Amino acid sequence: AVRLVFPLFIFGMLINQIQRAEASARRIANLLATEPRVKDHHQAVALAEPPAKIVLREVGFAYRATRPVLRQIGFELRRGRVLGIVGPTGAGKSTLVKLLLRYYDPHEGEILVNDQPLPRLKLADYRRHVGYVSQDAFLFYGTVAENIRLGSPEADPAAVRQAAEIAGAAEFIEQLPEQYDTMIGERGLKLSGGQQQRISLARAVLRDPALLVLDEATSAVDTRTEELIQQNLQRMKDGRMTVAVAHRLSTIRQCDEILVLVEGTIAERGTHEQLLAQGGVYAGLWRVQSGALGQTEPGQP
Ligand code: ATP
Repeated sequence: AVRLVFPLFIFGMLINQIQRAEASARRIANLLATEPRVKDHHQAVALAEPPAKIVLREVGFAYRATRPVLRQIGFELRRGRVLGIVGPTGAGKSTLVKLLLRYYDPHEGEILVNDQPLPRLKLADYRRHVGYVSQDAFLFYGTVAENIRLGSPEADPAAVRQAAEIAGAAEFIEQLPEQYDTMIGERGLKLSGGQQQRISLARAVLRDPALLVLDEATSAVDTRTEELIQQNLQRMKDGRMTVAVAHRLSTIRQCDEILVLVEGTIAERGTHEQLLAQGGVYAGLWRVQSGALGQTEPGQP
């Protein structure tokens, strides 16, 4: 999967918090330097209200002119709704996420946020309301609590604990040598991939964003824990729009709408039940995965 950058707007804050960890800072700076910079339009307008509606109309995008990566993508996202995106490797899922985060602007069609074209909004304004969790968790050298508080420096310990709870991280954190004060990240205690992902998710949950984007955010978490996390996320979906990209269909099963992306276009769409009834790509994947899950679950960590 594609590595994405840590949102620019917390970068300043981040530098403050991690003066101890120059290596980490250097890593982020390198990432930022390699990501495309979308600039504010000269007449960029402020976002009056937190995003509550996002509409994509016939969106198309290509990294190289000769090869379209996304074609004719259309959907509508409203506050309280959860959108799932599935599809084979290279289908364009992460690219679609990048458009939603506005790392790129579409080449065709449009993205409207609260009825305004996204490229016309002040980027920092928009990004302030967006929480993003990728498969590659970013942790810096600092305590567990500091890592979760990144982006919400004013949060109190109870709020940090609650976010960890929702992200399915509280249990393992409480078993660490110094719980929330345990040093992690580079030079700190080494966490498993699934544990890192849950810290990263707790961070996004704590920020309480209007748009929460999860790109394979729990891919390294065992299926039982992931189910608990999904239930928790369902409970906190009301105040926000959620977009979840996953290979594992059980992750997105409960979404209000699921898009099946194949070679850059929406091949199928609907709820889990509707897609099963269609008997297409999704139904085929589900048969394979539910069978495979049944066999491997007992051995999961
Ligand atoms: P995966 O499940 O493996 O993460 P995906 O569905 O997220 O795949 P994308 O990462 O969006 O797919 O990639 C879609 C297509 O765009 C692929 O063919 C990929 O090689 C290409 N692509 C992705 N990022 C870039 C880039 N920065 N420059 C050029 N091509 C790219």
